[in-house]
Amino acid sequence: MLNGLWDIIYPRVCLACKKSLKDTPAIDNLVCGECWGKIKRNLPPFCYCCGRHLEKSNFNKHLCPKCIKTRLHFDRAFSPCSYEGVIKELIHEFKYKGKDHLGRALSRPMIEFIKEYNLPIDYVDFIIPLPLHKTRLREREFNQAEVLSRHLAGEFNKDVLNSALLRHRFTRTQTELEEKERLANVQGSFSVKEARFIKGKNILLVDDVMTTAATSSEAAGALKNAGANIVFVLTLAN
Ligand SMILES: [Zn+2]
Ligand SMILES: [Zn+2]
Repeated sequence: MLNGLWDIIYPRVCLACKKSLKDTPAIDNLVCGECWGKIKRNLPPFCYCCGRHLEKSNFNKHLCPKCIKTRLHFDRAFSPCSYEGVIKELIHEFKYKGKDHLGRALSRPMIEFIKEYNLPIDYVDFIIPLPLHKTRLREREFNQAEVLSRHLAGEFNKDVLNSALLRHRFTRTQTELEEKERLANVQGSFSVKEARFIKGKNILLVDDVMTTAATSSEAAGALKNAGANIVFVLTLAN
């Protein structure tokens, strides 16, 4: 009875299409099966650096045109989804509307991707969520990257190292900036607090979206400066 009452007060709707979930199978009671099926997957071949799908003309170089031009600090990045449509909508709900319970569903494509492509998760010593600046964290109340990291860590029996990497400059939202401004915008915005935890380690850096790779590259650079061995980046979408 309580459940029925709850449904009247808070009718469950799909977070993407807003249709009622009353009579439809749904993922974690949050997203309808139809929307879930429409999530656009990032398909191989992948750029050996940023992990985006490579267009035919770049097959033989193994790198996308952007990665040929810019040197990024991480060893390789991976993303299971393309940042558009349903996933864009869900990430927005997740991040800006405080729906941290969406984290379980959203970590699923990442977990499946690791398994499907046999990513070397066994060699990863720590998962590090891309930190938010404390002002941003106060606004949002949770770090979406940390929520995803916890689900990944649970699945693969890894530790999340949350305090070693710091974000100490409050940068403007990357989406407000022109592409060329983005690299400059994040320069020097990360530092490592305790290098002894990082030295010689293989690290999986996790975030929700990689737009230009500037932010994750800068964070990876700070980890490498502190002696990290390998830094992989995994984002839900790119
Ligand atoms: Zn839907
Ligand atoms: Zn690339």
